[in-house]
Amino acid sequence: MKASQFFISTLKEAPADAEVASHKLMMRAGMIKRLGAGIYNYMPMGLRVIRKVEKIIREEMDAAGAVECLMPVIQPAELWQETGRFDKMGPELLRVKDRHNRDFVVQPTSEEVITDIARQELRSYRQLPKNFYHIQTKFRDERRPRFGLMRGREFTMKDAYSFDRDVEAAGRSYENMYAAYCKIFDRFGLEYRAVAADTGAIGGDRSHEFQVIAETGEDAIVYCPTSDYAANIELAEAVALLPARAAAGQALAKTPTPGKSTCEDVAALLGLPLSQTVKSLVLATDELDEHGSIIKTQVWLLLVRGDHELNEVKAGKIEGMKAGFRFATVGEIESRFGCKPGYLGPIGAKDVKVVADRTVALMSDFVCGANEVDFHLTGVNWGRDLPEPDVVADIRNVVAGDPSPDGKGVLAIQRGIEVGHVFYLGTKYSAAMNATFLDENGKPKLLEMGCYGIGVTRILGAAIEQNNDARGIIWPDAIAPFTVVICPIGADRSEDVKQAAEKLYGELKALGVDVLLDDRGERPGAMFADWELIGVPHRVVLGDRGLKEGQVEYQGRRDDAATKVAVSDIVSHLK
Ligand code: ATP
Ligand code: MG
Ligand code: MG
Ligand code: MG
Repeated sequence: MKASQFFISTLKEAPADAEVASHKLMMRAGMIKRLGAGIYNYMPMGLRVIRKVEKIIREEMDAAGAVECLMPVIQPAELWQETGRFDKMGPELLRVKDRHNRDFVVQPTSEEVITDIARQELRSYRQLPKNFYHIQTKFRDERRPRFGLMRGREFTMKDAYSFDRDVEAAGRSYENMYAAYCKIFDRFGLEYRAVAADTGAIGGDRSHEFQVIAETGEDAIVYCPTSDYAANIELAEAVALLPARAAAGQALAKTPTPGKSTCEDVAALLGLPLSQTVKSLVLATDELDEHGSIIKTQVWLLLVRGDHELNEVKAGKIEGMKAGFRFATVGEIESRFGCKPGYLGPIGAKDVKVVADRTVALMSDFVCGANEVDFHLTGVNWGRDLPEPDVVADIRNVVAGDPSPDGKGVLAIQRGIEVGHVFYLGTKYSAAMNATFLDENGKPKLLEMGCYGIGVTRILGAAIEQNNDARGIIWPDAIAPFTVVICPIGADRSEDVKQAAEKLYGELKALGVDVLLDDRGERPGAMFADWELIGVPHRVVLGDRGLKEGQVEYQGRRDDAATKVAVSDIVSHLK
Protein backbone atom coordinates (compact mmCIF):
# COMPACT_ATOMS: atom_id res chain seq x y z
CA MET A 1 0.00 0.00 0.00
CA LYS A 2 1.15 3.51 -0.73
CA ALA A 3 0.16 6.26 1.64
CA SER A 4 -0.84 8.51 -1.25
CA GLN A 5 -3.51 6.01 -2.30
CA PHE A 6 -4.64 5.20 1.21
CA PHE A 7 -6.53 7.40 3.64
CA ILE A 8 -4.65 8.79 6.60
CA SER A 9 -6.19 11.36 8.89
CA THR A 10 -4.50 12.01 12.22
CA LEU A 11 -5.36 14.52 14.91
CA LYS A 12 -3.18 16.36 17.42
CA GLU A 13 -5.87 16.41 20.08
CA ALA A 14 -8.31 13.80 21.24
CA PRO A 15 -11.97 14.79 21.55
CA ALA A 16 -13.04 15.82 25.02
CA ASP A 17 -15.36 12.85 25.56
CA ALA A 18 -12.57 10.31 25.12
CA GLU A 19 -11.63 9.13 28.61
CA VAL A 20 -9.28 6.17 28.13
CA ALA A 21 -6.10 5.77 26.12
CA SER A 22 -7.53 3.45 23.48
CA HIS A 23 -10.46 5.72 22.72
CA LYS A 24 -8.25 8.81 22.53
CA LEU A 25 -5.61 7.13 20.41
CA MET A 26 -8.03 5.48 18.01
CA MET A 27 -9.71 8.81 17.41
CA ARG A 28 -6.38 10.60 16.99
CA ALA A 29 -5.01 7.90 14.70
CA GLY A 30 -8.07 8.25 12.47
CA MET A 31 -9.15 4.65 13.01
CA ILE A 32 -12.70 5.38 14.03
CA LYS A 33 -15.08 8.29 13.74
CA ARG A 34 -18.00 8.83 16.04
CA LEU A 35 -21.44 8.89 14.47
CA GLY A 36 -23.55 8.74 17.62
CA ALA A 37 -23.30 7.51 21.20
CA GLY A 38 -21.61 4.11 21.01
CA ILE A 39 -21.83 4.12 17.21
CA TYR A 40 -18.69 4.50 15.12
CA ASN A 41 -17.53 4.56 11.54
CA TYR A 42 -14.65 2.18 11.08
CA MET A 43 -12.24 4.25 9.01
CA PRO A 44 -9.82 2.55 6.60
CA MET A 45 -6.94 2.44 9.09
CA GLY A 46 -9.11 0.90 11.81
CA LEU A 47 -10.83 -1.50 9.44
CA ARG A 48 -7.49 -3.04 8.50
CA VAL A 49 -7.02 -4.03 12.13
CA ILE A 50 -10.55 -5.38 12.36
CA ARG A 51 -9.97 -7.50 9.26
CA LYS A 52 -6.76 -8.93 10.71
CA VAL A 53 -8.52 -9.79 13.94
CA GLU A 54 -11.31 -11.45 11.98
CA LYS A 55 -8.86 -13.40 9.85
CA ILE A 56 -7.13 -14.92 12.86
CA ILE A 57 -10.48 -15.79 14.40
CA ARG A 58 -11.72 -17.38 11.16
CA GLU A 59 -8.57 -19.44 10.72
CA GLU A 60 -8.70 -20.83 14.23
CA MET A 61 -12.46 -21.39 14.22
CA ASP A 62 -12.19 -23.25 10.94
CA ALA A 63 -9.22 -25.23 12.25
CA ALA A 64 -11.30 -26.18 15.29
CA GLY A 65 -13.99 -27.59 13.01
CA ALA A 66 -16.54 -24.79 13.28
CA VAL A 67 -18.40 -23.79 10.13
CA GLU A 68 -19.12 -20.24 9.13
CA CYS A 69 -22.57 -18.95 8.25
CA LEU A 70 -24.14 -15.50 8.48
CA MET A 71 -27.34 -14.74 10.31
CA PRO A 72 -29.33 -11.54 9.86
CA VAL A 73 -28.86 -8.46 11.96
CA ILE A 74 -32.60 -7.81 11.99
CA GLN A 75 -34.49 -10.82 13.31
CA PRO A 76 -38.23 -11.47 13.60
CA ALA A 77 -39.55 -11.13 17.14
CA GLU A 78 -41.44 -14.44 16.97
CA LEU A 79 -38.31 -16.47 17.64
CA TRP A 80 -37.41 -14.23 20.53
CA GLN A 81 -40.91 -14.65 21.90
CA GLU A 82 -40.50 -18.43 21.79
CA THR A 83 -37.65 -18.26 24.29
CA GLY A 84 -39.27 -15.43 26.21
CA ARG A 85 -36.28 -13.17 25.68
CA PHE A 86 -38.31 -10.63 23.72
CA ASP A 87 -40.09 -9.67 26.93
CA LYS A 88 -37.48 -10.68 29.47
CA MET A 89 -34.57 -8.76 28.07
CA GLY A 90 -34.53 -5.21 29.24
CA PRO A 91 -33.88 -2.06 27.26
CA GLU A 92 -30.52 -3.39 26.05
CA LEU A 93 -32.48 -5.25 23.36
CA LEU A 94 -33.30 -2.90 20.51
CA ARG A 95 -36.79 -3.63 19.20
CA VAL A 96 -37.93 -2.21 15.87
CA LYS A 97 -41.13 -2.39 13.84
CA ASP A 98 -41.56 -2.76 10.11
CA ARG A 99 -44.14 -0.98 7.95
CA HIS A 100 -46.72 -3.65 8.82
CA ASN A 101 -46.20 -2.96 12.48
CA ARG A 102 -44.52 -6.29 13.01
CA ASP A 103 -41.90 -6.56 15.75
CA PHE A 104 -38.24 -7.25 15.08
CA VAL A 105 -35.07 -7.15 17.12
CA VAL A 106 -31.61 -5.97 16.20
CA GLN A 107 -29.60 -8.93 17.34
CA PRO A 108 -27.47 -8.68 20.48
CA THR A 109 -26.57 -12.39 19.91
CA SER A 110 -28.16 -15.15 17.84
CA GLU A 111 -29.15 -18.08 20.03
CA GLU A 112 -32.75 -18.04 18.79
CA VAL A 113 -31.94 -17.92 15.12
CA ILE A 114 -29.26 -20.60 15.27
CA THR A 115 -31.53 -22.85 17.33
CA ASP A 116 -34.23 -22.35 14.72
CA ILE A 117 -31.75 -23.40 12.03
CA ALA A 118 -30.64 -26.37 14.10
CA ARG A 119 -34.14 -27.68 14.76
CA GLN A 120 -34.77 -27.72 11.03
CA GLU A 121 -31.39 -28.95 9.85
CA LEU A 122 -29.92 -31.18 12.56
CA ARG A 123 -32.24 -34.15 12.51
CA SER A 124 -30.00 -37.07 13.30
CA TYR A 125 -27.28 -37.91 15.80
CA ARG A 126 -25.13 -38.64 12.73
CA GLN A 127 -24.96 -34.90 12.01
CA LEU A 128 -23.55 -34.15 15.44
CA PRO A 129 -21.46 -32.51 16.76
CA LYS A 130 -21.88 -29.26 14.81
CA ASN A 131 -20.58 -25.82 15.55
CA PHE A 132 -21.80 -22.82 13.56
CA TYR A 133 -20.25 -19.39 13.81
CA HIS A 134 -20.61 -16.01 12.26
CA ILE A 135 -18.90 -12.65 12.47
CA GLN A 136 -21.66 -10.12 12.47
CA THR A 137 -22.79 -6.70 13.62
CA LYS A 138 -24.46 -6.66 17.01
CA PHE A 139 -26.48 -4.01 18.73
CA ARG A 140 -26.88 -3.62 22.47
CA ASP A 141 -28.43 -0.48 23.78
CA GLU A 142 -25.89 -0.25 26.59
CA ARG A 143 -26.82 1.90 29.54
CA ARG A 144 -23.46 3.63 29.34
CA PRO A 145 -21.76 3.26 25.99
CA ARG A 146 -18.22 4.49 26.49
CA PHE A 147 -14.53 4.03 25.86
CA GLY A 148 -14.95 4.02 22.09
CA LEU A 149 -15.05 0.52 20.67
CA MET A 150 -14.76 -1.10 24.07
CA ARG A 151 -18.36 -0.57 25.05
CA GLY A 152 -20.13 0.40 21.91
CA ARG A 153 -23.78 -0.01 21.13
CA GLU A 154 -23.13 -1.23 17.62
CA PHE A 155 -20.15 -3.57 17.52
CA THR A 156 -18.86 -6.68 15.80
CA MET A 157 -18.88 -10.04 17.51
CA LYS A 158 -17.85 -13.49 16.50
CA ASP A 159 -20.46 -15.76 17.99
CA ALA A 160 -20.39 -19.52 17.69
CA TYR A 161 -22.94 -22.11 18.79
CA SER A 162 -22.26 -25.80 19.33
CA PHE A 163 -24.81 -28.61 19.11
CA ASP A 164 -24.22 -31.98 20.68
CA ARG A 165 -26.00 -35.20 21.44
CA ASP A 166 -25.37 -35.28 25.18
CA VAL A 167 -23.71 -33.51 28.07
CA GLU A 168 -20.38 -35.32 27.65
CA ALA A 169 -20.15 -34.43 23.98
CA ALA A 170 -21.11 -30.84 24.79
CA GLY A 171 -18.24 -30.82 27.28
CA ARG A 172 -15.85 -31.82 24.52
CA SER A 173 -17.18 -29.05 22.26
CA TYR A 174 -16.65 -26.62 25.10
CA GLU A 175 -13.06 -27.77 25.66
CA ASN A 176 -12.45 -27.57 21.94
CA MET A 177 -13.61 -23.95 21.82
CA TYR A 178 -11.67 -23.10 24.97
CA ALA A 179 -8.51 -24.41 23.29
CA ALA A 180 -9.30 -22.52 20.07
CA TYR A 181 -9.74 -19.32 22.07
CA CYS A 182 -6.33 -19.80 23.67
CA LYS A 183 -4.80 -20.11 20.21
CA ILE A 184 -6.64 -17.03 18.98
CA PHE A 185 -5.56 -14.86 21.89
CA ASP A 186 -2.00 -16.20 21.72
CA ARG A 187 -1.88 -15.22 18.07
CA PHE A 188 -3.11 -11.69 18.79
CA GLY A 189 0.01 -11.29 20.92
CA LEU A 190 -1.89 -9.97 23.92
CA GLU A 191 -1.45 -10.77 27.57
CA TYR A 192 -4.66 -12.39 28.71
CA ARG A 193 -6.10 -14.74 31.26
CA ALA A 194 -8.98 -17.19 31.01
CA VAL A 195 -11.04 -16.91 34.17
CA ALA A 196 -13.97 -18.92 35.47
CA ALA A 197 -17.24 -17.03 35.34
CA ASP A 198 -20.63 -17.63 36.85
CA THR A 199 -22.89 -20.14 35.15
CA GLY A 200 -26.01 -18.95 36.95
CA ALA A 201 -29.07 -21.12 36.55
CA ILE A 202 -27.29 -23.36 34.00
CA GLY A 203 -24.98 -24.61 36.73
CA GLY A 204 -21.71 -26.47 36.35
CA ASP A 205 -18.32 -24.93 35.80
CA ARG A 206 -18.36 -24.37 32.08
CA SER A 207 -18.22 -20.63 31.69
CA HIS A 208 -14.96 -18.82 31.13
CA GLU A 209 -14.19 -15.28 30.22
CA PHE A 210 -11.06 -14.38 28.30
CA GLN A 211 -9.77 -11.21 29.85
CA VAL A 212 -7.08 -9.00 28.37
CA ILE A 213 -5.01 -7.67 31.24
CA ALA A 214 -5.13 -3.87 31.45
CA GLU A 215 -5.27 -1.48 34.37
CA THR A 216 -8.10 0.44 32.79
CA GLY A 217 -10.25 -2.70 32.42
CA GLU A 218 -13.81 -2.54 33.70
CA ASP A 219 -13.56 -6.03 35.19
CA ALA A 220 -11.63 -7.30 38.15
CA ILE A 221 -10.16 -10.77 38.03
CA VAL A 222 -8.96 -12.84 40.89
CA TYR A 223 -6.22 -15.41 40.53
CA CYS A 224 -3.71 -17.37 42.48
CA PRO A 225 -0.14 -16.88 41.23
CA THR A 226 0.91 -20.25 42.62
CA SER A 227 -1.93 -22.34 41.19
CA ASP A 228 -4.41 -22.51 38.30
CA TYR A 229 -7.17 -20.74 40.16
CA ALA A 230 -8.59 -17.77 38.22
CA ALA A 231 -12.10 -16.36 38.33
CA ASN A 232 -13.82 -13.10 37.65
CA ILE A 233 -14.51 -11.10 40.78
CA GLU A 234 -18.25 -11.75 40.63
CA LEU A 235 -17.74 -15.49 40.78
CA ALA A 236 -15.00 -15.25 43.37
CA GLU A 237 -17.25 -13.10 45.53
CA ALA A 238 -20.27 -15.29 44.95
CA VAL A 239 -18.29 -18.24 46.21
CA ALA A 240 -17.03 -16.28 49.18
CA LEU A 241 -20.56 -15.11 49.89
CA LEU A 242 -22.32 -18.44 49.61
CA PRO A 243 -22.62 -19.24 53.31
CA ALA A 244 -23.59 -15.69 54.17
CA ARG A 245 -26.13 -15.59 51.40
CA ALA A 246 -27.74 -18.81 52.38
CA ALA A 247 -28.04 -17.45 55.88
CA ALA A 248 -29.37 -14.16 54.62
CA GLY A 249 -31.94 -15.90 52.48
CA GLN A 250 -33.19 -17.94 55.37
CA ALA A 251 -33.16 -14.94 57.61
CA LEU A 252 -35.10 -12.79 55.21
CA ALA A 253 -37.61 -15.53 54.67
CA LYS A 254 -38.07 -15.75 58.42
CA THR A 255 -37.95 -12.09 59.30
CA PRO A 256 -40.81 -11.72 61.74
CA THR A 257 -42.28 -8.31 61.19
CA PRO A 258 -40.87 -6.17 58.47
CA GLY A 259 -39.68 -2.91 59.79
CA LYS A 260 -39.84 -3.96 63.38
CA SER A 261 -36.87 -6.19 63.79
CA THR A 262 -33.85 -4.84 65.51
CA CYS A 263 -30.31 -5.16 64.34
CA GLU A 264 -29.79 -7.74 67.02
CA ASP A 265 -32.81 -9.76 65.82
CA VAL A 266 -31.47 -10.00 62.33
CA ALA A 267 -27.92 -10.54 63.44
CA ALA A 268 -29.15 -13.39 65.57
CA LEU A 269 -31.06 -14.84 62.65
CA LEU A 270 -27.93 -14.66 60.56
CA GLY A 271 -25.83 -16.08 63.29
CA LEU A 272 -23.39 -13.24 62.97
CA PRO A 273 -22.06 -11.03 65.71
CA LEU A 274 -22.56 -7.30 65.71
CA SER A 275 -19.57 -5.29 66.68
CA GLN A 276 -19.65 -3.17 69.76
CA THR A 277 -18.86 0.00 67.93
CA VAL A 278 -20.50 -0.08 64.51
CA LYS A 279 -24.00 -1.41 64.65
CA SER A 280 -24.54 -2.09 61.04
CA LEU A 281 -24.85 -4.98 58.68
CA VAL A 282 -25.03 -5.13 54.96
CA LEU A 283 -26.42 -8.12 53.15
CA ALA A 284 -26.12 -9.11 49.55
CA THR A 285 -28.55 -10.40 46.99
CA ASP A 286 -28.09 -10.98 43.31
CA GLU A 287 -29.85 -9.67 40.29
CA LEU A 288 -29.72 -12.29 37.58
CA ASP A 289 -29.99 -11.95 33.83
CA GLU A 290 -31.99 -14.24 31.63
CA HIS A 291 -29.13 -16.74 31.43
CA GLY A 292 -29.16 -16.88 35.18
CA SER A 293 -25.82 -15.08 35.33
CA ILE A 294 -25.26 -12.49 37.98
CA ILE A 295 -25.72 -9.03 36.54
CA LYS A 296 -24.91 -7.37 39.75
CA THR A 297 -24.73 -8.15 43.36
CA GLN A 298 -27.00 -5.96 45.37
CA VAL A 299 -25.80 -5.17 48.80
CA TRP A 300 -28.58 -3.24 50.28
CA LEU A 301 -29.75 -4.52 53.58
CA LEU A 302 -28.23 -2.00 55.88
CA LEU A 303 -29.01 -2.04 59.53
CA VAL A 304 -28.21 0.87 61.68
CA ARG A 305 -29.25 1.03 65.26
CA GLY A 306 -31.98 3.54 65.90
CA ASP A 307 -30.00 5.17 68.65
CA HIS A 308 -26.91 5.43 66.59
CA GLU A 309 -26.36 8.61 64.66
CA LEU A 310 -24.28 7.45 61.76
CA ASN A 311 -23.48 9.65 58.88
CA GLU A 312 -21.02 7.46 57.17
CA VAL A 313 -20.19 3.84 57.37
CA LYS A 314 -16.53 3.55 56.65
CA ALA A 315 -15.01 0.88 54.55
CA GLY A 316 -13.65 -2.01 56.43
CA LYS A 317 -14.65 -5.14 58.13
CA ILE A 318 -16.73 -5.13 61.23
CA GLU A 319 -14.70 -6.74 63.88
CA GLY A 320 -15.45 -10.37 64.21
CA MET A 321 -17.69 -10.43 61.18
CA LYS A 322 -17.21 -12.99 58.52
CA ALA A 323 -16.04 -12.02 55.08
CA GLY A 324 -18.87 -11.67 52.66
CA PHE A 325 -20.29 -8.30 53.43
CA ARG A 326 -19.41 -4.94 52.23
CA PHE A 327 -20.49 -1.58 53.49
CA ALA A 328 -22.59 0.93 51.77
CA THR A 329 -22.32 4.51 52.80
CA VAL A 330 -25.38 6.22 54.14
CA GLY A 331 -25.20 8.52 51.14
CA GLU A 332 -25.20 5.55 48.80
CA ILE A 333 -28.27 4.14 50.46
CA GLU A 334 -30.00 7.50 50.39
CA SER A 335 -29.31 8.16 46.75
CA ARG A 336 -30.32 4.67 45.81
CA PHE A 337 -33.45 4.33 47.84
CA GLY A 338 -34.41 7.90 48.41
CA CYS A 339 -34.69 7.33 52.12
CA LYS A 340 -32.60 7.20 55.22
CA PRO A 341 -30.91 3.92 55.88
CA GLY A 342 -32.70 1.75 58.26
CA TYR A 343 -33.95 -1.70 58.00
CA LEU A 344 -34.72 -2.80 54.48
CA GLY A 345 -36.59 -6.00 54.33
CA PRO A 346 -39.03 -7.74 52.07
CA ILE A 347 -42.74 -7.33 52.56
CA GLY A 348 -43.21 -11.03 52.64
CA ALA A 349 -41.22 -14.17 52.25
CA LYS A 350 -42.66 -14.69 48.80
CA ASP A 351 -40.55 -11.84 47.55
CA VAL A 352 -37.34 -13.64 48.27
CA LYS A 353 -36.53 -17.03 46.99
CA VAL A 354 -33.52 -19.07 47.92
CA VAL A 355 -32.18 -20.74 44.85
CA ALA A 356 -29.21 -23.01 45.20
CA ASP A 357 -27.68 -21.14 48.09
CA ARG A 358 -28.21 -17.86 46.41
CA THR A 359 -30.66 -15.23 47.50
CA VAL A 360 -32.55 -13.82 44.60
CA ALA A 361 -34.40 -10.64 45.09
CA LEU A 362 -37.42 -11.18 42.96
CA MET A 363 -39.32 -8.00 43.18
CA SER A 364 -39.10 -4.40 43.69
CA ASP A 365 -41.42 -3.41 46.46
CA PHE A 366 -39.79 -3.35 49.83
CA VAL A 367 -40.55 -1.91 53.20
CA CYS A 368 -37.87 0.27 54.54
CA GLY A 369 -37.45 2.09 57.75
CA ALA A 370 -35.31 2.71 60.71
CA ASN A 371 -36.11 0.64 63.70
CA GLU A 372 -38.48 3.22 65.00
CA VAL A 373 -42.21 3.41 64.95
CA ASP A 374 -43.55 5.58 62.13
CA PHE A 375 -40.24 5.73 60.44
CA HIS A 376 -41.04 3.12 57.84
CA LEU A 377 -41.15 3.81 54.16
CA THR A 378 -43.07 1.54 51.86
CA GLY A 379 -42.84 1.14 48.15
CA VAL A 380 -39.14 1.62 48.08
CA ASN A 381 -38.04 0.54 44.67
CA TRP A 382 -35.22 -1.92 44.79
CA GLY A 383 -35.19 -2.40 41.15
CA ARG A 384 -33.45 -1.95 37.90
CA ASP A 385 -34.24 1.66 37.27
CA LEU A 386 -32.41 2.95 40.28
CA PRO A 387 -29.36 5.03 39.53
CA GLU A 388 -26.27 2.89 39.31
CA PRO A 389 -23.54 4.21 41.55
CA ASP A 390 -20.84 5.33 39.18
CA VAL A 391 -18.15 3.23 40.61
CA VAL A 392 -19.01 0.27 42.70
CA ALA A 393 -16.90 1.21 45.65
CA ASP A 394 -13.60 -0.58 45.67
CA ILE A 395 -14.64 -2.31 48.79
CA ARG A 396 -14.55 -5.96 48.01
CA ASN A 397 -15.56 -9.13 49.68
CA VAL A 398 -12.53 -10.77 48.16
CA VAL A 399 -9.25 -8.95 48.50
CA ALA A 400 -5.67 -9.61 47.52
CA GLY A 401 -4.02 -11.82 50.10
CA ASP A 402 -7.16 -13.85 50.88
CA PRO A 403 -6.53 -17.57 50.75
CA SER A 404 -7.17 -19.15 47.36
CA PRO A 405 -10.25 -21.42 47.37
CA ASP A 406 -8.07 -24.27 46.12
CA GLY A 407 -5.88 -23.93 49.19
CA LYS A 408 -2.75 -23.56 47.08
CA GLY A 409 -1.74 -20.02 47.86
CA VAL A 410 -3.11 -16.53 48.25
CA LEU A 411 -5.17 -14.48 45.83
CA ALA A 412 -4.05 -11.60 43.69
CA ILE A 413 -6.34 -9.19 41.86
CA GLN A 414 -5.84 -7.67 38.41
CA ARG A 415 -7.98 -5.58 36.14
CA GLY A 416 -9.08 -6.96 32.80
CA ILE A 417 -11.17 -6.38 29.70
CA GLU A 418 -13.58 -9.16 28.76
CA VAL A 419 -12.81 -9.94 25.14
CA GLY A 420 -14.22 -13.43 24.89
CA HIS A 421 -16.69 -15.65 26.67
CA VAL A 422 -17.34 -19.37 26.34
CA PHE A 423 -20.52 -20.68 27.91
CA TYR A 424 -22.22 -24.07 28.18
CA LEU A 425 -25.95 -23.55 27.63
CA GLY A 426 -27.32 -27.05 28.11
CA THR A 427 -30.81 -27.40 26.74
CA LYS A 428 -32.02 -23.97 27.73
CA TYR A 429 -32.69 -22.82 24.18
CA SER A 430 -33.34 -26.20 22.58
CA ALA A 431 -35.99 -26.94 25.19
CA ALA A 432 -37.67 -23.56 24.77
CA MET A 433 -37.72 -23.98 21.00
CA ASN A 434 -38.15 -27.74 20.85
CA ALA A 435 -34.95 -28.36 18.93
CA THR A 436 -34.53 -32.12 18.88
CA PHE A 437 -32.65 -34.76 16.89
CA LEU A 438 -33.20 -38.47 16.61
CA ASP A 439 -30.76 -40.66 18.54
CA GLU A 440 -29.61 -44.19 17.55
CA ASN A 441 -32.88 -45.61 18.77
CA GLY A 442 -34.93 -43.20 16.72
CA LYS A 443 -35.96 -41.31 19.85
CA PRO A 444 -36.10 -37.51 19.79
CA LYS A 445 -33.66 -35.84 22.18
CA LEU A 446 -32.98 -32.21 22.95
CA LEU A 447 -29.82 -30.72 21.48
CA GLU A 448 -27.11 -29.83 24.00
CA MET A 449 -25.77 -26.36 23.26
CA GLY A 450 -22.87 -24.04 24.00
CA CYS A 451 -22.24 -20.46 22.92
CA TYR A 452 -18.91 -18.75 22.35
CA GLY A 453 -18.41 -15.03 21.78
CA ILE A 454 -15.45 -12.83 20.91
CA GLY A 455 -15.75 -9.06 20.87
CA VAL A 456 -13.99 -8.39 17.57
CA THR A 457 -14.09 -4.62 17.76
CA ARG A 458 -13.45 -4.60 21.52
CA ILE A 459 -10.16 -6.41 20.84
CA LEU A 460 -8.84 -3.20 19.25
CA GLY A 461 -9.56 -1.19 22.35
CA ALA A 462 -8.17 -3.88 24.64
CA ALA A 463 -4.98 -4.27 22.59
CA ILE A 464 -4.35 -0.53 22.79
CA GLU A 465 -5.11 -0.30 26.51
CA GLN A 466 -2.42 -2.90 27.00
CA ASN A 467 0.06 -1.50 24.49
CA ASN A 468 0.54 2.23 24.23
CA ASP A 469 2.95 4.96 25.28
CA ALA A 470 3.13 8.75 25.23
CA ARG A 471 3.66 8.69 21.47
CA GLY A 472 0.70 6.51 20.60
CA ILE A 473 -0.40 2.98 19.89
CA ILE A 474 1.97 0.00 19.83
CA TRP A 475 0.26 -2.74 17.82
CA PRO A 476 1.35 -6.32 18.17
CA ASP A 477 2.59 -7.43 14.71
CA ALA A 478 -0.30 -9.81 14.13
CA ILE A 479 -3.01 -7.16 14.16
CA ALA A 480 -1.17 -3.98 13.19
CA PRO A 481 -2.81 -2.03 10.34
CA PHE A 482 0.56 -2.29 8.56
CA THR A 483 3.50 -4.31 9.81
CA VAL A 484 6.22 -2.16 8.27
CA VAL A 485 6.27 1.46 7.19
CA ILE A 486 8.93 2.79 4.85
CA CYS A 487 9.70 6.46 5.34
CA PRO A 488 11.84 7.99 2.62
CA ILE A 489 13.39 11.34 3.49
CA GLY A 490 13.67 13.90 0.73
CA ALA A 491 12.42 11.60 -2.03
CA ASP A 492 11.30 14.67 -3.97
CA ARG A 493 14.94 15.85 -4.12
CA SER A 494 16.77 12.55 -4.42
CA GLU A 495 16.12 10.00 -7.13
CA ASP A 496 18.31 7.53 -5.17
CA VAL A 497 16.07 7.73 -2.13
CA LYS A 498 12.95 7.40 -4.24
CA GLN A 499 14.25 4.38 -6.06
CA ALA A 500 15.64 2.66 -2.97
CA ALA A 501 12.29 3.12 -1.22
CA GLU A 502 10.35 1.72 -4.18
CA LYS A 503 12.74 -1.21 -4.42
CA LEU A 504 12.45 -2.12 -0.75
CA TYR A 505 8.69 -1.70 -0.94
CA GLY A 506 8.51 -4.07 -3.91
CA GLU A 507 10.71 -6.68 -2.26
CA LEU A 508 8.78 -6.71 0.98
CA LYS A 509 5.46 -6.86 -0.84
CA ALA A 510 6.69 -9.79 -2.89
CA LEU A 511 7.52 -11.57 0.36
CA GLY A 512 3.98 -11.00 1.61
CA VAL A 513 4.99 -8.43 4.24
CA ASP A 514 2.17 -5.98 4.97
CA VAL A 515 4.16 -2.88 4.12
CA LEU A 516 3.20 0.75 3.56
CA LEU A 517 5.34 3.23 1.67
CA ASP A 518 4.84 6.75 2.94
CA ASP A 519 5.08 8.69 -0.29
CA ARG A 520 3.11 11.70 0.94
CA GLY A 521 6.20 13.90 1.00
CA GLU A 522 5.64 14.87 4.64
CA ARG A 523 8.48 16.35 6.68
CA PRO A 524 10.30 13.68 8.75
CA GLY A 525 9.02 14.90 12.12
CA ALA A 526 5.38 14.89 11.05
CA MET A 527 5.77 11.57 9.27
CA PHE A 528 7.37 9.84 12.28
CA ALA A 529 4.79 11.30 14.64
CA ASP A 530 1.98 9.92 12.47
CA TRP A 531 3.36 6.39 12.39
CA GLU A 532 4.19 6.35 16.06
CA LEU A 533 0.66 7.49 16.81
CA ILE A 534 -0.84 4.90 14.45
CA GLY A 535 1.43 2.32 16.03
CA VAL A 536 3.05 0.54 13.12
CA PRO A 537 5.51 -1.87 14.79
CA HIS A 538 8.45 -1.57 12.35
CA ARG A 539 9.81 1.50 10.60
CA VAL A 540 12.54 1.86 7.99
CA VAL A 541 13.89 5.32 7.21
CA LEU A 542 15.83 5.94 4.01
CA GLY A 543 17.87 9.10 3.47
CA ASP A 544 20.49 10.23 1.02
CA ARG A 545 23.37 10.27 3.48
CA GLY A 546 22.69 6.76 4.80
CA LEU A 547 22.22 5.30 1.37
CA LYS A 548 25.60 6.69 0.31
CA GLU A 549 27.06 4.54 3.11
CA GLY A 550 24.85 1.64 2.03
CA GLN A 551 22.66 1.95 5.14
CA VAL A 552 19.08 2.53 6.21
CA GLU A 553 17.67 3.10 9.67
CA TYR A 554 15.46 0.59 11.40
CA GLN A 555 13.39 1.35 14.50
CA GLY A 556 10.98 -0.96 16.26
CA ARG A 557 8.02 0.86 17.79
CA ARG A 558 9.23 0.06 21.29
CA ASP A 559 12.86 0.98 20.60
CA ASP A 560 14.28 4.20 22.00
CA ALA A 561 16.45 4.87 18.99
CA ALA A 562 17.04 3.74 15.43
CA THR A 563 19.77 1.30 14.46
CA LYS A 564 21.67 1.33 11.20
CA VAL A 565 21.18 -1.69 9.01
CA ALA A 566 22.92 -2.40 5.71
CA VAL A 567 20.65 -1.97 2.71
CA SER A 568 21.51 -5.50 1.72
CA ASP A 569 20.34 -6.86 5.11
CA ILE A 570 17.16 -4.92 5.72
CA VAL A 571 14.78 -7.35 4.03
CA SER A 572 16.01 -10.32 6.01
CA HIS A 573 15.99 -8.11 9.11
CA LEU A 574 12.26 -7.47 8.62
CA LYS A 575 11.08 -10.86 7.48
P1 ATP B 1 -19.83 -7.02 29.25
O1 ATP B 1 -19.75 -7.78 30.55
O2 ATP B 1 -18.58 -6.28 28.95
O3 ATP B 1 -21.07 -6.21 29.11
P2 ATP B 1 -21.06 -9.29 28.11
O4 ATP B 1 -20.72 -10.31 29.14
O5 ATP B 1 -22.38 -8.66 28.16
O6 ATP B 1 -19.91 -8.16 28.10
P3 ATP B 1 -21.21 -11.36 26.12
O7 ATP B 1 -22.68 -11.45 26.06
O8 ATP B 1 -20.46 -12.39 26.88
O9 ATP B 1 -20.80 -9.89 26.65
O10 ATP B 1 -20.69 -11.20 24.62
C1 ATP B 1 -19.50 -11.79 24.10
C2 ATP B 1 -18.42 -10.75 23.88
O11 ATP B 1 -18.89 -9.62 23.14
C3 ATP B 1 -17.87 -10.16 25.15
O12 ATP B 1 -16.95 -11.02 25.75
C4 ATP B 1 -17.25 -8.87 24.65
O13 ATP B 1 -15.94 -9.12 24.16
C5 ATP B 1 -18.13 -8.48 23.49
N1 ATP B 1 -19.04 -7.37 23.87
C6 ATP B 1 -20.11 -7.42 24.67
N2 ATP B 1 -20.70 -6.22 24.79
C7 ATP B 1 -19.97 -5.38 24.02
C8 ATP B 1 -20.07 -3.99 23.72
N3 ATP B 1 -21.05 -3.24 24.23
N4 ATP B 1 -19.15 -3.44 22.89
C9 ATP B 1 -18.17 -4.19 22.37
N5 ATP B 1 -18.02 -5.50 22.62
C10 ATP B 1 -18.90 -6.10 23.44
MG1 MG C 1 -23.00 -6.78 28.68
MG1 MG D 1 -19.62 -9.83 31.04
MG1 MG E 1 -19.86 -12.21 28.90
